[in-house]
Amino acid sequence: MNEFELIARYFTHPVRRAVLGVGDDCALIAPSAGMQLAISTDMLLEGRHFLPGADPEALGHKTLAVNLSDCAAVGAAPRYALLAGALPDADPDWLEAFARGFFALADRFDVEVIGGDTTRGPRTFCVTIIGEVPEGKALLRSGAKPDDVIWVSGEVGAARLGLALMRNELAVPLPDALRAQALKAMHRPLPRIGLGLALRDIASAAIDISDGLTGDVGHILERSNVGADIEILQIPVSEWLKARAIDPQTAAWGREFVVAGGDDYELCFTAPPALDAQVLEAGRQAGVRVTPIGRVTGTAGLIVRDEHGRPLDLQAIRAFDHFAADSAASAAGAAA
Ligand code: ADP
Ligand code: MG
Repeated sequence: MNEFELIARYFTHPVRRAVLGVGDDCALIAPSAGMQLAISTDMLLEGRHFLPGADPEALGHKTLAVNLSDCAAVGAAPRYALLAGALPDADPDWLEAFARGFFALADRFDVEVIGGDTTRGPRTFCVTIIGEVPEGKALLRSGAKPDDVIWVSGEVGAARLGLALMRNELAVPLPDALRAQALKAMHRPLPRIGLGLALRDIASAAIDISDGLTGDVGHILERSNVGADIEILQIPVSEWLKARAIDPQTAAWGREFVVAGGDDYELCFTAPPALDAQVLEAGRQAGVRVTPIGRVTGTAGLIVRDEHGRPLDLQAIRAFDHFAADSAASAAGAAA
């Protein structure tokens, strides 16, 4: 199978919306009237974002999911994707499963694959996602205002538990149901597209949580020139993980998983308190729980309070950073 047969067999699906899809030197698209294009790209590298031997179908899903999550964060409707990949070999079973996972998610969110690039090399994927958002309606990181409520969708920390399972890091057994949930969160995150769309005209700022809650909240604070005051007990996590974050025996890592877990692909957003009811309604519309975790403040800096209301030492509980020399989470499986 040569490169072109491979592209034709696994990565060429018919397009309806695009003017021209896979097969020429460029794809052609026509943006809808009154819409801005929202464009983002994300890479996944073997050994950093996924482990060698990762299930190809789940990997196909996740490769697209982490990119769709960026569309969700700006309130854009995803429309097109480009898929660039390096593969060590052309294993038909592997490719078939990867494409199945990728296109199942693409079809679910009505995304057309319009091009890409294929080369031999260490397994790596890079998707460019193109979405549409009405002019001026994109949810940016820069819009948070003092007194806004800070919200988080779904539940965080589960993907970090999944990573801990894969790394055999947990000294305590995980309940079976949570184990399954944690592995699903890690391998098959579901981008919050519906919520992002429902939050247009409601959220003042938004970001998707890929590198851990506090780190990503920090991006909103920095871009918005504000601070925040958050209570750790308000952060939506499983009851099991909440108990670990409170128990003095396990609090060191329990808290880290809650505030800095990473790879959740939930949305964190802010909205004026007067819009609480609209936020809850947006969550209902999108079929996802939304939880208030704290407030934006006018004083720079992020405060996360423990169960006694005391500020936690966030230096010690840092969000994952790919370039932090002392990062505890720099092995495979960490955030995209
Ligand atoms: P070029 O030589 O112009 O870079 P390629 O030979 O790399 O073109 O690709 C041929 C066509 O197949 C192009 O339309 C390209 O966008 C598409 N393509 C290549 N790899 C992929 C892929 N992995 N998924 C989807 N489309 C792809
Ligand atoms: Mg090319």
